[in-house]
Amino acid sequence: GCTASDLVAALRAAAATIREHRVELIQLDRAIGDGDHGENMDRGFTAVIAALDANPPDTPASALKLVATTLISKVGGAAGPLYGTAFLRASTAVKDRAELTPADLAEALTAALGGVVARGKAEPGDKTMVDALDPAVQAAKGDTVAELLAAAADAAAAGADTTVPLVARKGRASYLGERSAGHMDPGARSTSLLLRAFAEVAA
Ligand code: ADP
Ligand code: MG
Ligand code: MG
Repeated sequence: GCTASDLVAALRAAAATIREHRVELIQLDRAIGDGDHGENMDRGFTAVIAALDANPPDTPASALKLVATTLISKVGGAAGPLYGTAFLRASTAVKDRAELTPADLAEALTAALGGVVARGKAEPGDKTMVDALDPAVQAAKGDTVAELLAAAADAAAAGADTTVPLVARKGRASYLGERSAGHMDPGARSTSLLLRAFAEVAA
């Protein structure tokens, strides 16, 4: 199962991955947006780790809630409220359980996707983070947390790849119309990076 401290370890890995891929995310967003996604995510996850260090959570739900409130307050633009809502819904989904089972994690991911869709109204194929998160939710199955997260991360990576030829229909990239085709969506890439980091820690 996944305890609060397992989750904190996963979030540390996620923050490190976002830091490592900061320039890549900036370049993806420079191609079809305003070039700040790497900076937004790095600032947000750096603040998340500081918040977790200052207030060590005693349940997975409280860790997820702290991530949500930190991302909402520290990350501007589209991604902050979207990821914030995702983590908030995930927190609510797992209630006060001390240790998350694979089924709990599947529920949390489903709730996270529901939050992103409720907030951003994107559908699969609109060239957004939904194109990584939706297939991840569908693939999130397994007898162990490690198996479930590995399947979700693989599906998210494949989903992010599918955004390359798409024309954006939501967010800033949609202003480019046809010119948004030919580049991976930065938010789909960051979703894939986060899930990969979680999966690697669980493995
Ligand atoms: P901004 O576009 O405000 O600068 P970011 O660059 O941090 O914000 O985030 C951009 C990412 O947010 C996009 O690549 C896309 O994945 C995601 N995004 C934008 N609008 C939506 C939406 N309506 N629904 C889902 N995801 C969205
Ligand atoms: Mg941007
Ligand atoms: Mg911006």
